[in-house]
Amino acid sequence: MSDCLFCKIIAGDIPADKIYEDDDMVAFRDIAPQAPQHILIVPRKHIINLSDLSEAEDALIGKMMRTAAKIAADNGIGDGYRTIINNGAPAGQEVFHLHMHILGGAPLGPLVSK
Ligand code: AMP
Repeated sequence: MSDCLFCKIIAGDIPADKIYEDDDMVAFRDIAPQAPQHILIVPRKHIINLSDLSEAEDALIGKMMRTAAKIAADNGIGDGYRTIINNGAPAGQEVFHLHMHILGGAPLGPLVSK
């Protein structure tokens, strides 16, 4: 997608602090970290969010989860981290290319503020 921020980061057209890459996904540090460690893991394939998934992506999403755990461990937060996927604007999704936040490195507060 030519107008997608994360597609441009994946392609290397916009710089990012990439910490992991394989044939299916890329992980990089969030530009506005909400925790000492705030990493985004993103499939190379342009998928809008979980609601846009098809059965063909089941293996990809399984790999994304397993890779997130490896990235957390490799970055010293394997003992405790939070994963978040925002789906749709009401949930806070701002970039409409599926991505999972990996947060850790400090005690994390409640999941949602009231
Ligand atoms: P979401 O609100 O779930 O769509 O998350 C989008 C995330 O992308 C936010 O946490 C932003 O801080 C992050 N973000 C936006 N632009 C960049 C960028 N150029 N490099 C890294 N992270 C970014």
